[in-house]
Amino acid sequence: MLYPSPLNSLARGTWFKLICGASFGHLPAIRSLAIAYTLAGADCIDVAADLAVITAAKDGMRIAQKLARVSQSRQEPLLELPWLMVSLNDGVDPHFRKAEFDSSQCPVDCPRPCERICPADAIAHQGVIDSRCYGCGRCLPICPLGAIVTRDRTATPSSILPYLTGSDGIDAIEIHTQPGHLADFEQLWRILAPVAHHLKLVAISCPDSDELILYLRSIHATIAATYHPHPLPFTLLWQTDGRPMSGDIGAGTTHAAIRLGAKVLAANLPGFVQLAGGTNHYTVPKLRERGLLPPTSTKHVHGVAYGSYARVLLSPLLDRLETCTDNPGKLESHPDLLCSAVAIAAELVGQLKSSGTKLVAGDWDREQG
Ligand code: SF4
Ligand code: SF4
Repeated sequence: MLYPSPLNSLARGTWFKLICGASFGHLPAIRSLAIAYTLAGADCIDVAADLAVITAAKDGMRIAQKLARVSQSRQEPLLELPWLMVSLNDGVDPHFRKAEFDSSQCPVDCPRPCERICPADAIAHQGVIDSRCYGCGRCLPICPLGAIVTRDRTATPSSILPYLTGSDGIDAIEIHTQPGHLADFEQLWRILAPVAHHLKLVAISCPDSDELILYLRSIHATIAATYHPHPLPFTLLWQTDGRPMSGDIGAGTTHAAIRLGAKVLAANLPGFVQLAGGTNHYTVPKLRERGLLPPTSTKHVHGVAYGSYARVLLSPLLDRLETCTDNPGKLESHPDLLCSAVAIAAELVGQLKSSGTKLVAGDWDREQG
């Protein structure tokens, strides 16, 4: 089976992006997510601007490619790798924060609601496990002492600039911005512009606001001015961040994602439109119901990105993987877990696409033997 290229997926309205998280840094999980969702046919994997995270994701994609080749019994790789996207921010943004608290101040009899509510298992006895926290903020209001605070950070583009120009580097960047940040956006763009022509895609991620469409037009004008009178040398994508980092909370979060996607689509901005923020397994059926996916409509959204929902789907398997006695954390060494993970991922990806992976446990067993 040939997987369609990511660009074709955008054009066909079947683009699937996995969001690992702009500040999620749990390397074994990122590697495993990259393996499973690459094999499931994802078009793009979006990670934090951190070299260790980028390496883990790339490693996962390469393993997936090898596994796909084995399953197809061919020497040539048939699996078109997803584009690797790195997320940056131009100012304070919840996707780029971490929670923290001083566990020595917690009462011994606290029932620890913070631990239970955390979707990333990022809270342990000693406090927040930094690499696991992705800044969703759910633990903040639940602490009866108000002991949990957040630490904002800005992803610095300088550390990833060399990876924007290499052939085996980063394919896409995403800039998280919001109305009121235009000067900050312009400053960040001035750093990226000299190398941006190496990219296949630039995504702009923005939450809703009354000024959203005007703001996005200003962003487009800033980017287009860099290349005037020539067209942009990369594909432009608008990521509509409906209800940030909430897709795993419940089906209803998808409504905010769809509302915002429809609003940006109606604005006819140059570029593709892709939903995020609250997306889950209800998103595609609801989009179809509203005629916002092809083939029912000529004016359709071009894809969907899944973050917390896609990760939570696989977390029970990845937890088991970490406790394996042999090769813990290596998904490719555990065919049963691998196949289960790919099957779950493929079901989500398959909502947008008709294709999926044909990998079965025996294929990898044969390769190992
Ligand atoms: S609930 Fe969210 S913000 Fe709090 S520790 Fe967990 S991932 Fe981080
Ligand atoms: S809920 Fe607050 S007080 Fe209780 S363990 Fe969590 S951080 Fe500590």
